[in-house]
Amino acid sequence: MKRVLVTGGAGFVGSHLCERLLAENHEVVALDNFFTGDKRNVIHLLKNPYFELIRHDITHPYFIEVDEIYNLACPASPVHYQYNPIKTIKTSVMGAINMLGLAKRIKAKVLQASTSEVYGDPEVHPQVEGYWGNVNPIGIRSCYDEGKRCAETLFMDYHRQNKVRIKIIRIFNTYGPRMHPSDGRVVSNFIIQALQGRDITIYGTGNQTRSFQYIDDLVEGMIRMMRTDDSVIGPVNVGNPDEFTIKELAEQIVKLTNSASKIIYLPPSSDDPTQRKPDISKAKEVLSGWEPNVKLEQGLIKTIAYFDDLLKTTSLSEWKYRS
Ligand code: NAD
Ligand code: UDP
Repeated sequence: MKRVLVTGGAGFVGSHLCERLLAENHEVVALDNFFTGDKRNVIHLLKNPYFELIRHDITHPYFIEVDEIYNLACPASPVHYQYNPIKTIKTSVMGAINMLGLAKRIKAKVLQASTSEVYGDPEVHPQVEGYWGNVNPIGIRSCYDEGKRCAETLFMDYHRQNKVRIKIIRIFNTYGPRMHPSDGRVVSNFIIQALQGRDITIYGTGNQTRSFQYIDDLVEGMIRMMRTDDSVIGPVNVGNPDEFTIKELAEQIVKLTNSASKIIYLPPSSDDPTQRKPDISKAKEVLSGWEPNVKLEQGLIKTIAYFDDLLKTTSLSEWKYRS
């Protein structure tokens, strides 16, 4: 049994990771400031004596003795991370410094949840880890993209300078139950719009592509990455290489929800990447043959069931994120 710290533990990905770590009999401490996370995501874990949920903002130092740290705290959807962009970049940069400082002091392994956004609007397709990216440093997505890039730099420098045991994964678009219903991400938006019979809002032409990974495949990849020996530091892409246009996604969600919603086209969002698809050769090699198992249709069916239940049991106004 290990003691594991998960920052952002009450969020979408964090709550699934905590669940999985507890199922493997580890002791889990989740830190969260509840900006986009919610106690309801982990309420079912609170009765487990090996789970602790602590309100803490990782821009401030935190002291604890643990064996492993998963650093997930950071708003992840464009709507959320652009709400307070200065806070977003502080969370990535100061949060990384605080977690790396902690890992250094207690000699813990620390894994950074980085992102495919470090590739920006990529000119290399599919994206390989060796590609340095095409990121606008002064745009409205920069607080997130550059914050995550700087966090990767900090991880590498703490590793080179202080021998901190680090792991970096670059996560590609991930979806599933417990995505925040008002986070504006494409999968949750389209599903809620379809279930409510409202127009499905495509930004731009709908020809831009994304590759969607189901949450269980990501969690498996994260756990395997943490288990690798100290020579494996990454970065490693963790995503599903099945690529779809946003228009195809909209059509599939309309079909699966049997919805009467119509698809409408709105102006494109600024700096929106035109294509995204991971090359996962490295992940397959270093994560003992890991690859995504869940096809888009299967994952969407589970996610639709989650949102259908959520819309029947709560009001969306209860899920407004907090400032
Ligand atoms: P999320 O918004 O659901 O979770 C982020 C969690 O971090 C929330 O619980 C939030 O309250 C918490 N948080 C934010 N700022 C904090 C702070 N300063 N101190 C403490 N807690 C704070 O998003 P998610 O999709 O679960 O993403 C989790 C991580 O994975 C993020 O770091 C994100 O960048 C990364 N990631 C996610 C995706 C994806 O598609 N879901 C893709 C790439 C990277
Ligand atoms: N998108 C869209 N309609 C929506 C929400 C998003 O067309 O209601 C598009 C968005 O412009 C982008 C893609 O879907 O091209 C993925 O957006 P998301 O915010 O989910 O993730 P990211 O841009 O960070 O990959």
